[in-house]
Amino acid sequence: MSTFETDSVVIIGGGQAGIQAADSLRSGGFGGPITIVADEPGQPYQRPPLSKDYLKGSAQKPDDDGGARPAPLPLRGPSFFTDQNITLLTATAAVSIDRASHRVRLADGTSLSYGTLILATGARNRELPTPGMELPGVHGLRTLRDAEALGAALGSARNVVVIGAGFIGLEFATAALARGCQVTVLEFAPRPMGRAVTALLGDWFAQAHRQAGVDLRVNEGIAALEPGDDGRVGFAVSTTGERYPADLVVTGVGVQPNDQLAAAAGLDVANGIVVDANLRTADPDVYAIGDCANFPCEHAGGPFRLESVQNATDQARHVARVILGADEPYRELPWFWSTQGAFRLQMANIVRPDDETIVLGDQDGASFSVLCFRDGILAAVESVNKPADHLSARKILAAGIQISRDEALAEGFSLRAAYKSRAEAPLPRVATQEAAEPAPRPSAVR
Ligand SMILES: Cc1cc2nc3c(=O)[nH]c(=O)nc-3n(C[C@H](O)[C@H](O)[C@H](O)COP(=O)(O)OP(=O)(O)OC[C@H]3O[C@@H](n4cnc5c(N)ncnc54)[C@H](O)[C@@H]3O)c2cc1C
Repeated sequence: MSTFETDSVVIIGGGQAGIQAADSLRSGGFGGPITIVADEPGQPYQRPPLSKDYLKGSAQKPDDDGGARPAPLPLRGPSFFTDQNITLLTATAAVSIDRASHRVRLADGTSLSYGTLILATGARNRELPTPGMELPGVHGLRTLRDAEALGAALGSARNVVVIGAGFIGLEFATAALARGCQVTVLEFAPRPMGRAVTALLGDWFAQAHRQAGVDLRVNEGIAALEPGDDGRVGFAVSTTGERYPADLVVTGVGVQPNDQLAAAAGLDVANGIVVDANLRTADPDVYAIGDCANFPCEHAGGPFRLESVQNATDQARHVARVILGADEPYRELPWFWSTQGAFRLQMANIVRPDDETIVLGDQDGASFSVLCFRDGILAAVESVNKPADHLSARKILAAGIQISRDEALAEGFSLRAAYKSRAEAPLPRVATQEAAEPAPRPSAVR
């Protein structure tokens, strides 16, 4: 019979979810050993700036490419891990999990004993089978190392082709444009960000990016990448046969969950590690959170995997409460952000393709919100440069306050006023999430 340290927690993954889980366990009073196994080198960092400010350049730190970039934003301060007595193993990959003996085996041949295991392994970029993807000059954007390589490449690039008009593709396109490149974006779907935003907002962003100078092509995918005279990528050939000059190519075609370790350990995986409403796998001692977890999401109407800072941090806080004894389903309202040049997009809840929409504000002046209704009731809100609308929408939706389409169509309607009047009225309603809302951080409010 094997023995293991019942009071020890091992967390695989040193990203947004893994670090928050360790932090929340300690601040929640967990006194046992906590070990984070992180395969990336260096201090754990925030990913969102990598496709935004990090590529823009600043006066802080000159680079060899002639541009300048700020340092990556760390997830915690330098003394956090020692102060909190949390063991952080960097540049260390977990290679297998033996659930019977409660051990995680590491790439260096050693192993760790756990009482509770949290899988926070995130996701990796999806790879396209397109010919030419292996050419020098073709990049993905997920890690700090990717962003460093791209920041340097932007110093000499002229013609940039971005494959995929999702959030990261468009954020990168904006940064490349600001660095003086000609930028073409190829999107095989009819509009940008098609998986995540309403058609109305996708079309608005398509026009805005074109006006800013991006050559955004929709209904046009990538067919092949071809080398130039120097053997590096030189051209991108699209599905319409168009041939675009390209000395730098960035793929942004989505991610795949890192669920291989879990699958090899006999846990259920289906587009991510399958967990219950407490974020626990079928093994009561193993949890999964963040980008790698497929959880029952009441806001999506079924099993769902979310890729956002909000989801990673809120699930981490939740799992810590469960490990400390709480028994409650994870129900946080999803919210997202993306900064694309002058446009700050913020979304409260998940939109669905058949939602009915109403626009509040000034589309021409790039300051408006799209209200999405399901069965005549407000269900999600997308805001462009309207942070006050976004915050009110989150409060309304998290509290379960029902706003009808007719009410929103009335002269003078505002989300803020609607929230204030309902929050002050003595109506029986679902408790507001306000108290539990994470304090906005400089780069953590989308
Ligand atoms: C460029 C970029 C911009 C983004 N911008 C935004 C934004 O504006 N707003 C927003 O909400 N979200 C944004 N996101 C998404 C957000 O960063 C992710 O949703 C979030 O980081 C998920 O956290 P996570 O901890 O689940 O995964 P990750 O942050 O990916 O962390 C998982 C970690 O686990 C490690 N790992 C995997 N397998 C192992 C193993 N076997 N052993 C050890 N370690 C392992 C991985 O290498 C990784 O370091 C962005 C993402 C990227 C890449």
